This record gives sequence, structure tokens and C-alpha cells, in this order.
Amino acid sequence: MRLHFLGATRTVTGSQYLLETDRARVVVDCGMFQGSPHDVIRNRVPFAYQPGEIDALLLTHAHLDHCGLIPHLSASGFRKPIYGTKGTVDLTRLVLLDSAKLQEEFARSHQRFAERNPDRAAAEDEETAAALTAATKEDPAAATREAQPEAVTGLRAPLYTVDDTNTALGLFHGIDYGAEIQVAPGITATYLDAGHILGSAIIRVRAVEGDQERTIVFSGDLGRPGTPILRDPTPVTNADYLLIESTYGGKTHEPQEEAIRLLGEAVKLTGDAKGVLLMPSFAIGRTQEIVYELDRLLSAGTIPHLPLYLDSPMAQKASDVYRAYLDYFDENARALVTRHDPPIDYPDAIEANSQKESLAIEQAARPLMVVASNGMITGGRIVQHVKALVADPAMTLLFVGYQGDGTLGAQLQQGATQIRIDGQDLEVHCQVRSISGFSAHADEPELLGWLGNFTKKPRTTFIVHGDPDAQAAFEPRVRALGFTTAVPSWRDTVELT
Ligand SMILES: [Zn+2]
Repeated sequence: MRLHFLGATRTVTGSQYLLETDRARVVVDCGMFQGSPHDVIRNRVPFAYQPGEIDALLLTHAHLDHCGLIPHLSASGFRKPIYGTKGTVDLTRLVLLDSAKLQEEFARSHQRFAERNPDRAAAEDEETAAALTAATKEDPAAATREAQPEAVTGLRAPLYTVDDTNTALGLFHGIDYGAEIQVAPGITATYLDAGHILGSAIIRVRAVEGDQERTIVFSGDLGRPGTPILRDPTPVTNADYLLIESTYGGKTHEPQEEAIRLLGEAVKLTGDAKGVLLMPSFAIGRTQEIVYELDRLLSAGTIPHLPLYLDSPMAQKASDVYRAYLDYFDENARALVTRHDPPIDYPDAIEANSQKESLAIEQAARPLMVVASNGMITGGRIVQHVKALVADPAMTLLFVGYQGDGTLGAQLQQGATQIRIDGQDLEVHCQVRSISGFSAHADEPELLGWLGNFTKKPRTTFIVHGDPDAQAAFEPRVRALGFTTAVPSWRDTVELT
């Protein structure tokens, strides 16, 4: 029995693992690498296995860094079932169709660029091809096979299309939490609540080879205990092998009560100043959480009733999926539903569906609040709002989520006095505030708390899904609890004895 680490090793994106027995091959997650060019090029490196030889794909949750390569896998020959909770299946449909559309758009705009600047485009393609060769050779097996990278001309083609995505979506099977299902000969899977986003799961796999049976637990992304709407991560008490995420190794989040207090304070200040409160937010998870907290603060009489504009069609669709899975909600959120106080609906919230409605928000009567995607201001409708309002001292830009290095969001958060959008230099005169306590990921004490549920220690605990610094901080803490640890590298293979 072997486990191959094919992504989210010493980095936080590209989650993918392959479990192999003498009878079956099951892949867990098939995520897109995001972030630096060094990471992104890995999306184009040929799969480490023949996609047509895989028996099943198990998906932990709908985030792109866990599901983003699925249409590419299916277009490469994978035809077997993909299992996820029913909520994950519905959210993944939104995420993958959006991703395919973006890739087709990018490919078209690059095509136009290449027609106008053939020399520059050719030089860039050559650079990309060289990077791809280098990335491919990071895999020792591929290097010995002398795998040829794709032809240079193919590099800018979309990784997959909307058609590929629709084909892949036909392979999905929605399952329930807690049910042990057979996914391949000698392999079963049980999905347990991970409390990260709607439908997210810890997956417990039981694999039989000969007279040997092993339990392998994949933590997926673990949420914070006490997060609104969702249930807490399920305690797991035993496994032969464990893979645990380490996104926030070495870090402790601000308490959630403080986050909620800061949110309320920003709303009150905006009301007093008759200003605009602009909150960049990811469409799935964070938006629903922010709307939930605003609704709670309003119900408690803590904040004035400012108009709330929801400016992300994707977030609206994601909220509809949340509303369709009330049985996934925690007790508090379900109690609100029973009292006819829908938990992710802010009274009289205004949904901007068209681009025109979105642009009209800036002219609307103040004070007002806007939640728009995406969360790091790297694209989406938020960019136009920032462009229009960044010089306005009556605007508060409130960050409620993580800002990746090098993003416009990070620049603003770090106090940039001038920014550039669409080639235009803009002075920053708005107020910028940040709240760090809203997080979809457990922090280090919470990860260690979850590990504390194990009554029998796994033979090995593999630390995955974390940047090197976070993993370096986290590993000794896990060892101190008596766990035997390993930090795998990309494309490492381990025998599960
Ligand atoms: Zn995630």
C-alpha cells in the first residue's frame, strides 16, 4: 500500500494525494496550484499517474486549490466516480464553471496579445516552456522517462474549457456525512464534518490489501471551532496514518468575539460619517459569514440598519447553496431558521446582479455597506469600487480575510499611499482597517486541540498544506504531543506498512 504526495506539500495549494493498493487506485483531491509562477506551472506538469487507471476521486471540499484540476483530469482520461458531500458537489459546480470561464477568457485575451506582439509572446512562451521542463524534472520518475513538455504553442491554451467541466460534473456523486461507502475494490470512505466551508469534509479511508487493513485520515482543510453557521470539525480518535493541514502553523488568530466587535465598530463609524464601508470578500464562505455576523449585530441592536449591497453573483449563488443545506448548519444557525430568522439574510439587502447595478452602488445614498468579491482585490467587481472610492476619505476599506503577498489587497493593507489600477495611478485617502479573526482555518492551538482527540497515535502524521515556515513551527509542537511526524515533499511516495 502506497501513498503519493502530489500537491499541497510545503505549500498551501494544489492538494492531491494518490492511495494505491494491489487492487485499486484512489485520488484524494485534485486541486489547482495557485500563487507564484513556480507553483502555477505545476498545473501543466503531466499527472503522476495514468488518469484512466484511477478508480475513484474523493473530494474534501469545493475550494479551487482542492478541486480545480478535476476537469483537466477528466479531459485527460479519468471517467470514474467523484465523491463529495452533496453540498460540496453543488458548490464545486459553481467554482469549476467559473474557473473554466476565466481560463477561456484568459486564453482569448492572450491570443489577441500574441497576434499584436508575436515576438514578445513567443519569448514568454519559451520561458514558460523552460519553467515547465524544470518543474517536470522535479519529479524523478518523469525525468527518467524524459517526459516532453507540451508544445510551446499549447502552453497558453486553457487548461480546460466549460465543455470539459460539464463532462467532469457528470461524474460527481453527492454523498451524506457519516456514511461509509465503498469507493473502489477494498477501499471505503467516510466523510466527516470539517467545519471549513459548507460541505467540507475530513475523509476517513479504510483500505485493505491482502490480510492488511489500514485507516488513513485526510484532514482536508480544518475549520475553527465556534465558527458561525457551520458545525465544528469532527473529533477523530484514531488512524493508522494521518495527513493534517498546517496553513496556520505557528499562528494564533484574533478571538472571534474581537473580530465581531471590530466589524460592529466599523459599521457604526460608517453610519456616523455617512460614508461607505467596503468589504472585499471571497464569494464562498466568508461572504456568508460576514452577512451572518452583520445580521446578528443588527438583531442585537449593536449596529444601525445601514443598507447592505451584495455585489457578487457568485456569492449569491453560493448563498443559495448554503440555504439549500440547512441540515449542515450548526445548532445556533438552525435555531434561527426555526424562529424564521434566516441566518444568512440581512434585512433588505440589495443584490447587484448586473454590471450596471454594480456601478450604480457608488451613486447610492450614503451611508451604505458593500460586500464584493474577490477577497484580495485581484479581480471581480471589488476592483471597480476600489478604483472609484479609494481617494474618498469617507470610505472605509475593511479587510475581513487573508491578503496574499503581492496582491492589491496586501498593498493597501500595508498602507500604500498610491496604487495602480488599469494603468491609472490613484492616491489613497480612504481609511483602511483589517480584521484577522475571521478565518476558515483552525489556528495552531486549534489544530493541536483537534489532534488531542486521538486516543491512539497514528504510525505517522504527515504535515501537509502549509508554507515551509508554518510547517517548521508546527512540526515540533505536534511531536511534543507524542506524534511521529513527517513533512513530505512534492511527488514523494511512502509505503504504508
Ligand atoms: Zn479550503
